[in-house]
Amino acid sequence: MLIKNANIITWGEENRILEGYGLLIRGDRITAMGPSGLLEKEYPQEEQVDAGGQYVMPGNICAHTHFYGAYARGMAIPGSAAKDFPEILEKLWWPLDKSLTQEDVYNSTQVCLIDAIRHGTTTLIDHHASPYAIEGSLDEVARAATEMGVRVSCCYEVTDRDGQERASAGIAENVRFIERLKTAPNNLLGASFGIHASLTVSDVTLEACRKAVPDGIGFHIHVAEHEVDEYDSMTKSGTHVVDRLEKFGILGPKSIAVHCVHIDAREVEILARTDTWVSHQPRSNMNNGVGLGNVEAFMRAGVKVCLGNDGFSNQMWDEWKTAYLAHKLWNRDPRRMGGYDVVKMAIENNAKLAQVFFPAAPLGVIEPGAFADLMFVDYHPYTELTAGNLPWHMIFGFSNGDITTTIAAGKILMKDRKVLVADESEIAARGRELSIKTWERYQKRFQ
Ligand SMILES: [Zn+2]
Repeated sequence: MLIKNANIITWGEENRILEGYGLLIRGDRITAMGPSGLLEKEYPQEEQVDAGGQYVMPGNICAHTHFYGAYARGMAIPGSAAKDFPEILEKLWWPLDKSLTQEDVYNSTQVCLIDAIRHGTTTLIDHHASPYAIEGSLDEVARAATEMGVRVSCCYEVTDRDGQERASAGIAENVRFIERLKTAPNNLLGASFGIHASLTVSDVTLEACRKAVPDGIGFHIHVAEHEVDEYDSMTKSGTHVVDRLEKFGILGPKSIAVHCVHIDAREVEILARTDTWVSHQPRSNMNNGVGLGNVEAFMRAGVKVCLGNDGFSNQMWDEWKTAYLAHKLWNRDPRRMGGYDVVKMAIENNAKLAQVFFPAAPLGVIEPGAFADLMFVDYHPYTELTAGNLPWHMIFGFSNGDITTTIAAGKILMKDRKVLVADESEIAARGRELSIKTWERYQKRFQ
């Protein structure tokens, strides 16, 4: 396939905007990039996709999400409103995840991936929970991902909150899926070893996770999203969450510590020293009223901070915009969280994190040899747009509706705003059928 008449935003080490360029795609890779006219002459037989002067840029990457949370949309939560994050877990997420069946897991993943495709998000790192449908649940996530052609890294959140048997089943599900990928590697699928959070796992379970994790695999765990995680760790182990996780071998260059809102300076230093990834989700932090991690300081300390969505919409530019605005308000300082800080997380670090799971070719950059994960953006700037001021055009100008075409692994997933790889209305209709039953099971948990 030859993409012609594109204004290419390359990202990568030195971001460039190349006007009137073309891309040759063979298999799942970009094999050539050059002026459109030259490539058209050189490859006259190639199937042509005319970008019509749109911006063509690498697909968005999401560092942390929860497909399983899809049915929370519009769901009534009984009783008085949750007063803090621990109550949000107890009233919303924990009874909801217990209500999920394998089919719910599959359909929840599908609806999230349609949202991702519609908004140019081509790689997502998921953190899954369905305590009453554990075994095989990651296969359901993976099935939806491979059918729809989106890159997904999977893991199951191990937790003690539903008893020892389900904690062990969670460990087994992680190991089973990791072994499955080792036996049958697939460039669209990745895996980490999931743990819910320090506050829901005992020392015995943490030790069991450490013993079970196969070589070369990292962990994916929520860290200090609310103060209660730190208080729990102090009570249980006499030390902070990050210290506790380090002691149990959970940190490292393939592990993701999610949120880190309430960590202290020493914990920041440990995350930097162990080369652990941190993922930041400002929309979720605002919604849960938990505060904001001081991620600019983390980055200054050498921590690799990424941007996720925590199960909010897969419209990653909304997360960009929120990050840009939230830190200014939180700190009452308009100098906080500049455009380049957002780019550092969402582009540079997310691309490097994605390579942990999809190492076969570069991601998050347009260059020969890279995976052909792309989106077309129909944006018409009325002020000059350069590689230098692009972040501010993206934050103040780009709109999710501008994304017209999404390509992952060299396959067109959406063209001219029509999703080609799935029947959107059928999947949404199935979601409405299934979620009504899920909501009924959820409500019964309060009776
Ligand atoms: Zn999360």
